[in-house]
Amino acid sequence: MQFIDSHAHLNDPAFDQDRETLLRTVLPHAGLVASVEIGCSPQEWQPALDLSQKYPGFVYPVLGVHPEYAPLMQASHLPQLKGFLPRAVAVGEIGLDYTCLDIAGKELQQQMFSQMLQLATTERKPIVLHVRRAGEDYDVYEDCFNTLKREWVPSPTLTHAGVLHCFCARYEEAKRALDQGLLLGINGCFTYKKNEYIREAVKKAGLDKIILETDCPYLSPQGKRGQRNDPSNIPLLAQFVADYLDVHVEEVAAVATQRTKQLYCFP
Ligand SMILES: [Zn+2]
Repeated sequence: MQFIDSHAHLNDPAFDQDRETLLRTVLPHAGLVASVEIGCSPQEWQPALDLSQKYPGFVYPVLGVHPEYAPLMQASHLPQLKGFLPRAVAVGEIGLDYTCLDIAGKELQQQMFSQMLQLATTERKPIVLHVRRAGEDYDVYEDCFNTLKREWVPSPTLTHAGVLHCFCARYEEAKRALDQGLLLGINGCFTYKKNEYIREAVKKAGLDKIILETDCPYLSPQGKRGQRNDPSNIPLLAQFVADYLDVHVEEVAAVATQRTKQLYCFP
């Protein structure tokens, strides 16, 4: 079986002690054939590109500005990002996050999100979408989908327009994402006991519409909660998905790997 972690932060300091061992030994042993590295602040772009250069054909970079990091953007950063994008497989993670409004207000987030969507449009890149609600208020999705409609034209050459990463919502939101040509990024949240609504939404969406991710070092799957997460947990996540959807884990691995390759246009 072959697995891909479609969303990781291996440049996080949590991996400073064993990044090399992970990438050279642990992950290939666990069946990982690639890991997509997210560089989502101006300070993370160059390191993400460097990591992909150090592990060619294994680490693929995604570059953008996470809503929380919008305040870090300076005038020179946008042209810099534009210059880096030909080497990236997607623009991300970008979107809206209403749990950090004290750091970046709605207006600033909206402005940054619009800029990133315009960039994805002109550069013909898929998007990695980050949408996070505060509590039970799903307004952030409404705002997000409205912005997508207004600011974004996905390239018709893409098989998938992007991914709603860290899917953590109801089928209602899943459906809207699928209608926009997005896949759903499934991670540890899918495995947590209280999150039956996520599993139900994923079941309705179907195996065909999901890809697997860790979002490491965070969100370790059930049974490993509290520990540092890393891409070697992807097979465990695949098993959770297989059990819940009542299919073989080989099928989950095959479909998710193929979808991830299509999304990011891997060679
Ligand atoms: Zn992330």
